Amino acid sequence: MSDERIGIVGGGLAGGLLACMLGRNGYRVTLYERRPDPRRAGFIGGRSINLALSCRGITALEQVGLSGEVLSDAIPMPGRMMHDPAGRLTFQPYSKDASDAINSVSRGKLNITLLNAAEASGAEIMFGQRCVDADLDAPAAELRDESTGATRRVECDVLVGSDGAFSAVRSKMQRTDRFDYSQAYLGHGYKELRIPPASECDIDPARFNGFAMDPSALHIWPRGGFMMIALPNADRSFTCTLFWPFDGEASFSAVSSREDVLPFFREHFADAVPLMPTLLDDYLAHAPSSLATIRCEPWNVGGRVVLIGDASHAIVPFYGQGINAGFEDCRVFDALLDQHAGDFDALLPAFSAARKPNADAIADLAVENFEVMRDKVADAAFLARKRVEHALHSIDEGRYTPLYNLISFSNTPYAEARERGNRVIALAERIVGRIGAFETQELNDCALSERVRSFLAEMP
Ligand SMILES: Cc1cc2nc3c(=O)[nH]c(=O)nc-3n(C[C@H](O)[C@H](O)[C@H](O)COP(=O)(O)OP(=O)(O)OC[C@H]3O[C@@H](n4cnc5c(N)ncnc54)[C@H](O)[C@@H]3O)c2cc1C
Repeated sequence: MSDERIGIVGGGLAGGLLACMLGRNGYRVTLYERRPDPRRAGFIGGRSINLALSCRGITALEQVGLSGEVLSDAIPMPGRMMHDPAGRLTFQPYSKDASDAINSVSRGKLNITLLNAAEASGAEIMFGQRCVDADLDAPAAELRDESTGATRRVECDVLVGSDGAFSAVRSKMQRTDRFDYSQAYLGHGYKELRIPPASECDIDPARFNGFAMDPSALHIWPRGGFMMIALPNADRSFTCTLFWPFDGEASFSAVSSREDVLPFFREHFADAVPLMPTLLDDYLAHAPSSLATIRCEPWNVGGRVVLIGDASHAIVPFYGQGINAGFEDCRVFDALLDQHAGDFDALLPAFSAARKPNADAIADLAVENFEVMRDKVADAAFLARKRVEHALHSIDEGRYTPLYNLISFSNTPYAEARERGNRVIALAERIVGRIGAFETQELNDCALSERVRSFLAEMP
């Protein structure tokens, strides 16, 4: 057991996993969470009830022996199911290997699993404790008890801010000299709706094992400037998320009254409407939430304070990588803990320097992938390029790994993944340019592979 006391502000996903890792390393950890204990009060989620967990998140969970438990009721999604305006479906695998899948997991359950594991590792968790200020020198956190309103100061040797995109710890760092900070909102927001199990929407439950649609895919209704997606839940429902502009023609402000909703959905998402018996009430129940990319640097104050997860890098959700990146932060932190033998003066700057370029890369990719999801996935040239990327990948697995695979099915650092993946995209675009988008789509896998091989053979 180390004498050093680690105070962690924010018992969400990243805070829970880091507490568990530090506890297992023998540190005295106390986690301060503003919400009540979700194991007693039920999970109060401000955001999507499920999320897509992929390789990076799973690798970090493996580190603390939790991947098996978390994946036991996850729903693998090996591809996207596109819904066109006429309700025609097209499945697009994410990878040439059918076993490569992202996994839909319950956010609330994952959080509880991590809190249990953190406690089992020796960490103490204090709920209903909101950090209202931080002393970056001591370091110390000023906490307000959410039930009594009383405030107190807790000192520690290292203070971790894992308190999410609007971090109180970071907001104190923002007031220090030479701290860079930026926040960029999208013009689009999001709203969540529900597709209940098949039995509640007049679909034969035998068709998709109790689900109203095929659960082994992330469903997308791409409509150009806006879209809807749906991820399956273990209770056989789907959580749908609308990503629409706040303002303009097809937007949240244009579809705001009881009379507007059903006609708009019937026009743009006709095949989904019969699967959403509570659509009108669900739509009108909540205002849309906003989406932002938040960047800052450095993530540490000497060897005393450090930010992790969304507190240091909040990204938009279009690559499904937010918490995968946050869990990867924890895995890298854990590895550096070994490497620096607990010397936080060396560890915290090394952590910040190692992670920042990778966080920036995935932040950019997440914004770019929004355009892909809402528009390009229905575009002939894009689909042809994807087929060529898969053909290249089959020809040389290591050399031509596509960007999506590097991000979602590998632990290759994000910045390196982006560079390598973009090279494969450029090559695939040249090949499609040579063959023609329409002709590429007409070729069977074997013939396409031959054409790609001969293109590669001609390359200097
Ligand atoms: C619509 C949507 C869909 C998403 N889908 C995916 C996905 O499919 N895959 C994926 O990987 N990521 C996804 N994300 C991103 C993911 O949700 C975040 O990256 C992740 O929740 C970040 O975890 P965190 O622990 O850093 O922060 P948070 O989850 O925000 O946790 C922060 C914790 O700190 C607590 N807290 C906040 N302030 C204080 C305070 N002052 N004092 C004490 N405690 C405090 C909060 O109550 C919370 O428990 C999605 C995000 C959105 C918005």
